[in-house]
Amino acid sequence: MKFGTKAIHAGLTPDSATGAIMTPIYQTSTFIQNGVGNHKGFEYARSANPTRSALESNIAALENGKFGAAFGSGIAAIDCVLKMLKPGDEVIATNDLYGGTYRIFKTIFEQYGIVFHFIDLGNIDVLKATINTKTKLIWVETPTNPTLQIIDIKAIAGLINSSNILLAVDNTFATPYLQTPLDLGADIVMHSATKYLGGHSDVVMGILVCKDEKLGKEIYRIQNSSGAICGPMDAFLVLRGIKTLHLRMQAHCKNALEIASFLKGHNKVDKVYWPGLSDHKNHLIAKEQMLGFGGMISFSLVGDSKQEALKVLNKTSVFSLAESLGGVESLIGHPATMTHAAIPKEERIKNGITDSLIRLSVGVEDVADLINDLKQALE
Ligand SMILES: *Cc1c(COP(=O)(O)O)cnc(C)c1O
Repeated sequence: MKFGTKAIHAGLTPDSATGAIMTPIYQTSTFIQNGVGNHKGFEYARSANPTRSALESNIAALENGKFGAAFGSGIAAIDCVLKMLKPGDEVIATNDLYGGTYRIFKTIFEQYGIVFHFIDLGNIDVLKATINTKTKLIWVETPTNPTLQIIDIKAIAGLINSSNILLAVDNTFATPYLQTPLDLGADIVMHSATKYLGGHSDVVMGILVCKDEKLGKEIYRIQNSSGAICGPMDAFLVLRGIKTLHLRMQAHCKNALEIASFLKGHNKVDKVYWPGLSDHKNHLIAKEQMLGFGGMISFSLVGDSKQEALKVLNKTSVFSLAESLGGVESLIGHPATMTHAAIPKEERIKNGITDSLIRLSVGVEDVADLINDLKQALE
């Protein structure tokens, strides 16, 4: 089955009780058993809930995986992956990381004895030099946030091929429509479903998908034991969102192309970060591993003044000033003071998150209105 068909049908069956075509919201904590040990596959809703199970099967199919697990937030999904590790184990992650991921690594799991290395994963030699016998997990985000670098998943998977190091990819920015990391050799795919999968800025959720049965069982053990599941209403909303994922992603990519070109030609704009631009430093890898270049764009201003950047942020009206991304509506944000405030300034500047850097989540509105909005805000 092709992507659009899977998005709408995979993992879903009409409700057996009523024939309802949409998966019902099973708002229940428990399930009646016919006799001890004789039930219909559901016993208690932390362990499994039919609405959540439908979503987990659906997203597993979209990522070309076998096992899906849905959590109360993207961070809760990351928490689950980290709980597979033991004190002394080492993790190597991209240095250009989502702020909340950096925070859970540094302020939660470091105190349990897990060691983190933040490096430029675009440099395979640096990665080779950082891997040692204690390395258990490599955490990739691609495109990275907010400077939209592209990390070569296949190259990293090839490097650790014969080891027992797990490769996890945060696929939030790309979505399975643009990129399927498991096909490129990753072991685990993670999503903040809060973003493009939900797509309508009305839910917070996290997802993990894997192919390997043993890994799937381990993820399930932690999901059930730690209990950071999502509720059935949220599972319903994300299932509904996914039905239009392919249509929305096409529209996000198309609008982003026009906006990136507009910004590129503007005299107040210094750097434009969008992997679809032919002068983007990872454009060729992006072309190779992605079907399109996504709806996220970052840009900095000539002179790199924070004051000027904040003026732009305050002057847009179609672009709303807010954290988050991936919804149908366009958002504008200032990483240095918003999403990436948890990262020390020195670290931040080193990774290109300068004072004037502005991040756009390009929505699916009419692009002429989006460009006019940016035009007047930059004046
Ligand atoms: C938002 C986000 C997360 C965290 O997900 P939540 O749903 O907010 O917990 C992780 N990674 C990326 C890339 C994100 O954008």
